[in-house]
Amino acid sequence: MKQSLVYTVKNKCRVCFTCVRECPVKAIKMVNGQAEVMAERCIGCGNCVKVCSQGAKAYRKSVQAVFDLIDSSHEVVAALAPSFPAEFDYIKDYRLLVAMLHKLGFDKVIEVAFGADLVAEKYKKLVNNQGGKHYITSDCPAIVNYVTKYHPDLVDHLAPIASPMVATKRVIHEKYGEDVKIVFIGPCFAKKEESDEIDEALTFGELSEIFSAKGIKADEKDKKDFDPPFSGKGAIFPVSRGLMQTIDKTDDIAEGNIIVAEGRPDFKDAIREFENGLKNTHHLELLCCDGCIMGPGMSKAGKRYIRRTEIGQYVQQKLNRIDIEQWKKDVATFGSLDLSQHFEAESVELEKPGEEKIREVLFQLGKVKPEDHLNCGACGYDTCYEHAVAMAEGIAESEMCLPYTIEKLHNSINNLNLSNEKLANAREALKQSEKLASMGQLSAGIAHELNNPLGVITMYSNILKDEAKTDDPIREDLELIVEQADRCKGIVGGLLNFARKNQVKKTETNLYQFAKRSVESVIIPANIEVEIHNELESPNVAIDKDQMMQVLTNLEKNAVEAMPGGGKLEIFLRDQQQMIEVTVKDSGIGIPEENKDKLFTPFFTTKALGKGTGLGLSLIYGIVKMHRGKIMVDSNTDIAKGPTGTEFKIVFPRTFEE
Ligand code: ADP
Ligand code: MG
Repeated sequence: MKQSLVYTVKNKCRVCFTCVRECPVKAIKMVNGQAEVMAERCIGCGNCVKVCSQGAKAYRKSVQAVFDLIDSSHEVVAALAPSFPAEFDYIKDYRLLVAMLHKLGFDKVIEVAFGADLVAEKYKKLVNNQGGKHYITSDCPAIVNYVTKYHPDLVDHLAPIASPMVATKRVIHEKYGEDVKIVFIGPCFAKKEESDEIDEALTFGELSEIFSAKGIKADEKDKKDFDPPFSGKGAIFPVSRGLMQTIDKTDDIAEGNIIVAEGRPDFKDAIREFENGLKNTHHLELLCCDGCIMGPGMSKAGKRYIRRTEIGQYVQQKLNRIDIEQWKKDVATFGSLDLSQHFEAESVELEKPGEEKIREVLFQLGKVKPEDHLNCGACGYDTCYEHAVAMAEGIAESEMCLPYTIEKLHNSINNLNLSNEKLANAREALKQSEKLASMGQLSAGIAHELNNPLGVITMYSNILKDEAKTDDPIREDLELIVEQADRCKGIVGGLLNFARKNQVKKTETNLYQFAKRSVESVIIPANIEVEIHNELESPNVAIDKDQMMQVLTNLEKNAVEAMPGGGKLEIFLRDQQQMIEVTVKDSGIGIPEENKDKLFTPFFTTKALGKGTGLGLSLIYGIVKMHRGKIMVDSNTDIAKGPTGTEFKIVFPRTFEE
């Protein structure tokens, strides 16, 4: 299969959408962030090749095929397009270039400008003798492709005249025989697909590459003229208004009925207006580029007006030298050739998606209100609506929309910040539990070692106490020993609890009854009022009763100890979706801000020596975590800000599932 005329060089596309913007027919599809040319929609104008700064668009090369022809037994004729002085501006005498082409292996070099002379005559007749019908010039293959593919209804308005290239081909075969092979050399790669009548088409760019690869240079000693027939004014064809100048018509509104348009988007506008009425009154002379001298097969660097000047100077030279009589004779001879051309419509318009679908896409892009339609053009489409249509057709992507992509980026940054924050919290929690784990190990070791000697002390001091007489003064000391040893046992017990292996044995429990029992097992002074608020839909929850009892009693003890002057202890039981929320609230002294970080650290206590162990909250923390729950604290110490007191809230799953 032949490579398509214009194609994408894989992975070179940097997604700037310039090609999408410059493509007059939107024949560029975005696939996974790469711009791809859709061959069937492409008109070969070469805009994408011209504008891509990354070299990600290329056109099919014919260099090897041309060498094969030259190496064959055939006579090979180069048909040189009249725009050559614009490309080879450093070769001041055209005869040097002709000699170079001979050196390359061409047997003859013929001017396509002569074909242009013939074609111009035909146009003159067509324009002067129109019979009410108006035409679009058909010498530019990209324009012809555009009309046949995108305005099929206008195909019979394409001037039924061969292009200068094809006309020249017919002249060559007439003059030099049907066997000669013809290579067109010009500024435009759409010529490669214009006509089957030409054997190969090279661009000037390709020719320049061949010259340098083969080391062929202009040599003053080596000059050769074109082979006949020689051209006349047709050499001016490639600059815009060329056709008009050759047929002595003007596009002055007052006098003429020819409208000249070149380049995107002018030619599109002109065709649209032609379709909408101008076709009854005017002819269109159209060139897809700003004249063939700016064609995509020219090397990139050239400047438009300098190129025009080069062409002008060359034509001037030619006209000074021309043998008018001979030229007229040639025009008359070859003018009798059949120079007609037929064009066929081949519509490639995609079926327009429904409004519903387009609206859906617009919604997806966040374009709901009229003011959301920025029509900034960054995506390559003129309007947000056109971009949405292309998306609905499956040839554009949402990422092409800059405002949409920026918005998406902002969201990602926010999400990232959020997950960073979560990560920081998780790291903090991990640090805490690591600390607890190592504390646990240490305390388990110590507690285990202390338990035995403590047992001995308790046992013997109890025996001694029992043996001592009631009035024995030693008895009081022994009572103190027993009491303090008991206290030590309490601490050691706490340490062992704290270090207990992480196992939760859940059983179904009536939480309301359970809370009531927990309050009963704590000594509550008379000046403290207790209230339990049960707001649960169902009181049944799954908990490890032993562990959860420690949680509640420890929270309640802390609350009581925070209200030395009396107050109110409240317990709230609430549903929180699938979770249970238990709040223990007191009206005590509150927790100063600076202590809030340390509450769950083992051995942190603010209570007097011998009163607190500082193990309660760290134990609670561990148990709540093992229940896959959370513990939160809210407290106020400042009466100026409202009633003082503290609220510990634990939230854990209601059911067994882990
Ligand atoms: P302990 O009660 O042995 O001091 P905890 O771990 O139970 O150890 O509590 C640690 C510290 O947290 C307490 O010493 C106290 O300063 C503070 N605290 C805990 N609960 C309350 C509360 N309800 N009101 C005020 N302070 C509290
Ligand atoms: Mg405590």
